[in-house]
Amino acid sequence: MLNALATPRPAQAAEAGAPDARRPATQTFLTHAARSKAFHGFVNPPIYRGSTVLFDTMDDLVHGRGEFTYGRKGNPSTRALEGAWTELAGAAGTILCGSGLAAITTALLSVARAGDHLLVVDTVYGPVRALCDGLLERFGVAVSYFPPDPGADFEQAFRDNTVAVYLESPGSLTMEIQDVPGLAAIAHARGACVLMDNTWSTPILFDAHATGVDISIEAGTKYLGGASDLLLGVASANSAYWPRLQDTHRMMGCIAGPEDVFLALRGFRTLDLRIRESGKRALEIAHWLRSRPGVRAVLHPALEQSPGHGYWKRDYHGASGLFSVILDPVSRQSLARMLDGLRLFGMGYSWGGFESLVTPIDHDLVRTAKPWPHTGPTLRLYIGLEDVDDLKQDLSDGFARLAGKP
Ligand SMILES: *Cc1c(COP(=O)(O)O)cnc(C)c1O
Repeated sequence: MLNALATPRPAQAAEAGAPDARRPATQTFLTHAARSKAFHGFVNPPIYRGSTVLFDTMDDLVHGRGEFTYGRKGNPSTRALEGAWTELAGAAGTILCGSGLAAITTALLSVARAGDHLLVVDTVYGPVRALCDGLLERFGVAVSYFPPDPGADFEQAFRDNTVAVYLESPGSLTMEIQDVPGLAAIAHARGACVLMDNTWSTPILFDAHATGVDISIEAGTKYLGGASDLLLGVASANSAYWPRLQDTHRMMGCIAGPEDVFLALRGFRTLDLRIRESGKRALEIAHWLRSRPGVRAVLHPALEQSPGHGYWKRDYHGASGLFSVILDPVSRQSLARMLDGLRLFGMGYSWGGFESLVTPIDHDLVRTAKPWPHTGPTLRLYIGLEDVDDLKQDLSDGFARLAGKP
């Protein structure tokens, strides 16, 4: 049964000399991955609920024989998504956790031990900074932060005990694209592991493993789930790091529930379409915002002025739907008037669903390696699947309230 779940992507069959040499497009792979005859012809792997897995004989139990032996160690639902993601990401294996943060924690604990040092990008997702400065420091792991585009200073940041470099591109809230292959090459020359938060791109828009990343992590909560109705973490590793990632995941037991995994596999089918469509709408709105009075800068990797745009052009296959805008300085009340009155843009955390969102981000912006130089209020926008003209109208009305017009 598991062999059926792990059906090789036709591209692999082609490499093995099979007659059909045409590599299937990503959308075809997403549509057909993780299907199995074991499910009686039903199209999708069902939700397997269960803790106990019964063994036929004492001998089987003692030797842990069988594809599945205990609920925490996986079931056909989780195996289906893990296998499909591993293929999509070009990895050796994938773990699933109950949240993005849990996957990041598991990944970091798989490479660090007491006495080690980690280099973490300054633009890291806030809760990861809390994990590093709180839990990891408490367990004897030293962490220091480097700017997203560190230049020649990057080599100097390494210590004798630096075991890993943690990247996030684009940076959280401020959207700097990093030179992932360049930084990875330097890290590897020093024997350090390269981890990256690839949530913004997913493997659809950025081939993290092919670009030098050893462990790539995603909040499946965002685009993979795609409907704001689940939390999930996904971490994939290359063959060098897969054994320790899998071991750490097993030791910690921080798994994902089968229902969320089932929903995420639904999201997987339409991931390419949704991320590209949301990205297309976001880019249109980013261009439109750039020319508006009251907007100081638009931080969107596909715009030339955005930091790291050259790396984006070189390494990425597109842009997703999340970006930020710096406004001219305004009073807090004016900003609240603008945001409180929005009809379509919801105000709240997370992103990657159908609906557009806005959050003011200044209070969340922590930078310790290099101060954030801008003074105007900054908004993070996520563009969903609503009609673009409707979204522009909602923002236009918001700008009118910001300028004090009735
Ligand atoms: C949301 C998010 C996370 C954390 O995911 P959770 O599922 O909320 O724990 C990590 N990284 C990035 C970039 C995110 O946007």
